[in-house]
Amino acid sequence: MSAPIIEVKDLKTYFQTPKGIAKSVDGVSFSIPRGGTFALVGESGCGKSVTALSLIQLVPEPAGYIAGGEILLNGKDIISLTESEKRNIRGNKISMIFQEPMTSLNPVFTIGDQIMETIRLHQGKTKKEAQEIAIDMFRKVGLPNPEAMINEYPHRLSGGMRQRIMIAIALACKPDLLIADEPTTALDVTIQDQILKLINELKASMGTAVLLITHNLALVYQNAETVGVMYAGKIAEMASTKDLFRNPMHPYTVKLLRSIPGGKKRGKALDTIIGTVPPATSYPLGCHFAGRCPREMEGCATIEPPLAERAPGHLVACHLHDPEFMNKPYSKPIRQEPDKLSPLATPFKDREIILEVKNLKTYYPIRKGLLKRVVGNVAAVDGIDLSIRQGSTLALVGESGCGKTTAGKSIIQLIRPTEGEILFRNNDLARLGDRELKKYRSLIQIIFQDPYSSLNPRLMVKDTIEEGLKTLKPDMGKEARMKRIASTLERVGLVPEMMYRYPHEFSGGQRQRIGIARALAVDPEFIVCDEAVSALDVSVQAQILNLLKSIQRDFGLSFLFITHDLSVVEYIADEVAVMYAGKIVERNRTEEIFSNPQHDYTKKLLSAIPRIDESLVNAWKLPGHH
Ligand code: SF4
Repeated sequence: MSAPIIEVKDLKTYFQTPKGIAKSVDGVSFSIPRGGTFALVGESGCGKSVTALSLIQLVPEPAGYIAGGEILLNGKDIISLTESEKRNIRGNKISMIFQEPMTSLNPVFTIGDQIMETIRLHQGKTKKEAQEIAIDMFRKVGLPNPEAMINEYPHRLSGGMRQRIMIAIALACKPDLLIADEPTTALDVTIQDQILKLINELKASMGTAVLLITHNLALVYQNAETVGVMYAGKIAEMASTKDLFRNPMHPYTVKLLRSIPGGKKRGKALDTIIGTVPPATSYPLGCHFAGRCPREMEGCATIEPPLAERAPGHLVACHLHDPEFMNKPYSKPIRQEPDKLSPLATPFKDREIILEVKNLKTYYPIRKGLLKRVVGNVAAVDGIDLSIRQGSTLALVGESGCGKTTAGKSIIQLIRPTEGEILFRNNDLARLGDRELKKYRSLIQIIFQDPYSSLNPRLMVKDTIEEGLKTLKPDMGKEARMKRIASTLERVGLVPEMMYRYPHEFSGGQRQRIGIARALAVDPEFIVCDEAVSALDVSVQAQILNLLKSIQRDFGLSFLFITHDLSVVEYIADEVAVMYAGKIVERNRTEEIFSNPQHDYTKKLLSAIPRIDESLVNAWKLPGHH
């Protein structure tokens, strides 16, 4: 194997906080060879991004600091460099693609200026040469009209486009090490595919080493040679990608893998991990996963397991693989495999159609000039037909800008459509006035992607849910409302006392549960889930998907599931409608869409999804010694 581009030895990155020292990265070691990809995976808050920031020497000071260890770039320690030497390395030898592109682009300069400055600064090119390289990079990352793009400002572009610009800037200088922190999370699957191909080309042609940080395990399976599973500041398991996916040895890795949705899991509850990652200020004394681990033994919480080689080239930090722990009893009874979700008694084809959409069109006016006169229309939704059966899930899939969110909002009348019928229990919602529509508002609800921005930060959970009840169930008295809030919170897996807390006191998964409780409290029959699980970690996503499935079964709810994540669709949907440029191009039962797609666009979408070899999926078993 070639000499490593980057070698990280026992890295410790700490933060001073009011609650004490947060050991976000607590003794992490790995190396990446020339042309290799090392992936770091794990839930949010495990220290992956802080590891990345440490490598690029951007740990936020003064609270954050590197407390120990070495980072060797081409054999030279970079921690002790002067600030100007570090600046020279950043963007030149080490580039980083961040999760949130808007924060890393300067809003007052054109994107052309920003990329050309980087190229000229680090590569000594003339302005004309830098412009040519910039246009070429824009083309490579799939930006439309790259020549015109040079003069655009960041705020005028969509999130996906800004992310591609960041990627173009990061790749333009052909760095030795590229750090990609959730580089494609916000992007459509076809663009994601294109970006990863581009990164892989760069690896092959330039020998760039890549540190890939992602929660998408299928992406790791297809793109990395080595994987480190990070948990609470430490590496829990590290192996070649092939070994790790074939034989995961740490309970945390197994639980993460088993929480991934997909076609193989249809009809079953997904595996989940209880609890949350402990705060970096208060890790358990021994194994950091103790408390959440289904195989915890006597001694796990107090004795730290070393990261030791338990199979050739396969490092694991878990006492289960230590002969000394062979006879220790488990602390908790072994839990059974996840429940099978019993299907609804009525077969799909016999279920009543609850909602029918006919020739739905929603146009947005294009306004120009000082007087903002309407000069034309954009057909966001251009004549779609859909029907949803009671107790069933229809997934509406397609890429950003295809009109799926507008379609969802038009169906529930958050946007009034331009034309068409929306028959809910045979009443055309599109023809109803606001007062008549109010009768249906409680029956038709929506759950959004980002529960934080859809919850009022100044309202306690109780008030948020009560607001809906007061408006939509005016006959309900105060006492009944409080009872309803408590029982709904319980139903979504929270405790009633939590109604007196504010949104910021909850984790992302809990906030999504509150969003579901808010919708569920008013007795809906039909819920639009607009990217409802897209922003969540895979372990939390599994809990929310299980919850949605179980409330669907218990209350006979129908879902319109709007998403760009096709592995979620394959798991949860009964039917799929594929949308492209405002129209539905294909619609069928889920199994048919995935096994026998007909339309070229559906085929293109499906072929771009990263997948884990299906034969491995059923083989992931928790390790155990007795
Ligand atoms: Fe940690 Fe013990 Fe579980 Fe291994 S078995 S992951 S050491 S708690």
